[in-house]
Order: sequence, then C-alpha cells, then structure tokens
Amino acid sequence: MNKKREKEVVSPEALTTEVEFDSALRPKKLNEFVGQKSIVSNLKIFIVAAQQRNETLDHVLLTGPPGLGKTTLANIISNEMNSGLKSTSGPVLDKPGDLAGILTELQDGDILFIDEIHRLSPIVEEYLYSAMEEFRLDIVVDSGPSARTIQLKLPRFTLIGATTRAGLLTAPLRARFGVSNRLDYYNPIDLEKIIDRSSKLLNIQITDEGKSVIAHRSRGTPRIANRLLRRCRDFAQADIELKKYNSVITKEVAEYSLRALEVDIHGLDEMDKRILKVIIEKYNGGPVGVSTIAVAVGEEQGTIEEVYEPFLIQEGFIKRTPRGREATQIAYKHFGLKFKNSNQEQLL
Ligand code: ADP
Repeated sequence: MNKKREKEVVSPEALTTEVEFDSALRPKKLNEFVGQKSIVSNLKIFIVAAQQRNETLDHVLLTGPPGLGKTTLANIISNEMNSGLKSTSGPVLDKPGDLAGILTELQDGDILFIDEIHRLSPIVEEYLYSAMEEFRLDIVVDSGPSARTIQLKLPRFTLIGATTRAGLLTAPLRARFGVSNRLDYYNPIDLEKIIDRSSKLLNIQITDEGKSVIAHRSRGTPRIANRLLRRCRDFAQADIELKKYNSVITKEVAEYSLRALEVDIHGLDEMDKRILKVIIEKYNGGPVGVSTIAVAVGEEQGTIEEVYEPFLIQEGFIKRTPRGREATQIAYKHFGLKFKNSNQEQLL
C-alpha cells in the first residue's frame, strides 16, 4: 500500500495553488514522514497502544513554526488510526454553535483537527473543555427565565490541535492534551530527503548537488523546500543564459534560480533580516530586549520569540543573554559587516 503510494506521480501542472501542492506532497504514513525522530517514534507507540486497547488516541497538541508538518502529522495520525478526520481552524469556530455543529457530526473514534487553536474565542474554548474531557456538551438554549441547559453526548474523538503560538494557549486548554509535541526546524540532510521524495512524486529531475543547494536555503522548513523545488523546476525548463539544462535541476540551475529569487545563502526571509539589521544597526549588535526588537520591526513579541528567533538561534545568528538578544559574528558576516563584540564600539 505504502509502496504503491510512493510510486504515484503527480502531474505538477495540475497543481496550481500552494494548498494543492502541499496536500499532494503530504506523506500519508509515519514511515514516510522525514525527521522529527522522537515525535514520530513516540506517536508510533501511542497509536499502537491505543489500537491494542481498542481506544481512541489521547488528544494531541502540535506546536511549532509554520510549514514544519503539523497538518501533515494530523493527517498521518488519522490514516494510521484508520479513523475519519474533520479539519477546521480556531478563527472559523466563532460561536459555540459552530463547535457543536462540527462535534455532533463526528463518528466514534474520529479525529478533529483544529489548526490555529490559539485563536479560539474564550467562550468556544470553554465549551471545548467538557467535550475533550467528558465527551459531552452543555448547550444553553433560550435566554432569560426560560433559559435551560441541554446536555449533548458526543462520540469519543481525538482532538488534534495545532498552533504556531504555543505561548498564547491558556493553561486549562494546554492541560487537556495528553500528548504535546513541538516540531523543530529540519536539518539540511532531512530536507534533502524531503526534496528527493517530492521530486520523485512530481517527476522532477534533480541532481544530488541540486538537492543540497535547495536544502541549505530552505530555512529548515519542508514547505519552503518544496516551494523552491517547484521554482527551480521552472528555471531548469527554461534555458538559462543560452545554456540548455533539459529540465534537470543541477547545482548550477539551483544556484542561479535561488539567486534570481533573491533567496540568500542561509535562506533567511525578510523578517529574519529585519530582526538582525535592527539588532546590528540600531542597537550596536545588542544586547537588546525582545520587546524593543518587536516594536522596531513591527511584529508581535510572541511571534518573534516562537516563530523567528528559534531559527536564528539554531543557525547561530543571535544569542540569548540575560540582558537581551545579541547579534553574533555569523550575523555580521552575513551582511558583510565587521564584527565587534558587545563590549567594544561597533565599527559599522
Ligand atoms: P504546517 O501544518 O506545520 O504549517 P504542513 O503539514 O502543511 O505544515 O507541511 C507543509 C508541507 O511540507 C506539506 O506539503 C508536506 O508535504 C511537507 N512536509 C512537512 N513535514 C514533512 C516531513 N517531515 N516529511 C515530508 N514532507 C513534509
């Protein structure tokens, strides 16, 4: 079954939107999911144990920056558990009635996937508590003196919540998840494997060096790796500066394409660069508090801490100190600037 899926080739032309592209490339089974080793091995155990006991899986919380595989894992869990999956997102569940509607449609053992779960309204979240814990919903009907509560019994389901902003989850909601996993950025070796898998599925020819170039510039993110692969395919198809590449993504094609797309050698995005430049240019390399950085770049402090900073720290561009964030030598070098440590005057 798995083998058959691996061999399926998707016509790239048929995939017009990013969403279609994402879902066509989603691994269907845990064995196909690259990287995140400890999350995958733990999930395997929880799934097998739940199946042996003939129970539903405990509620699962998946956190981490965008494009790292949270939706993919939710789909995989539903495949592995052989259960139905209903997907929605925090902002869509506006009123308790919306939640009641989706919960009462579930079958026993189904999975409910709520993306951006940190954006649930407080009232909907409150209803979710009893649904998660006791598989019932207490709905208030009518108002004033005739108001009464009806209790709805729900099927036993597994909630999979996903969020890029774990810090915004309330403690009571977080406490109701039996399994909680944080996805990390991928290393280039795992990204190469993902690019290899995607290129086979999309029937794209790419050399090992081509894979390596894309993997190193994908900001540790499978979604970006897949997107860059698709763009490089366009360049490989067109002749570059009178040279013919016959639709093969070589090292040369990948480097040319990424230069043309203005993807820098570390794959930093616009916000990464703004954060680094603020620390270096406005605050002399730091230390500077994250709240100050947030104001200077016009982004929420939490988003900087949970989405941008982890990658910049992992790649060694900034370091966290008790007095704030400091730009490292690697960051200065990236912008072609001379590094001076924080105790000295910067020579900019
Ligand atoms: P998120 O929900 O965290 O934003 P997604 O699950 O939508 O991310 O993943 C984005 C894309 O990256 C999907 O197309 C998926 O195919 C790919 N992807 C993510 N993680 C992996 C992985 N571990 N192995 C292979 N492909 C992956």
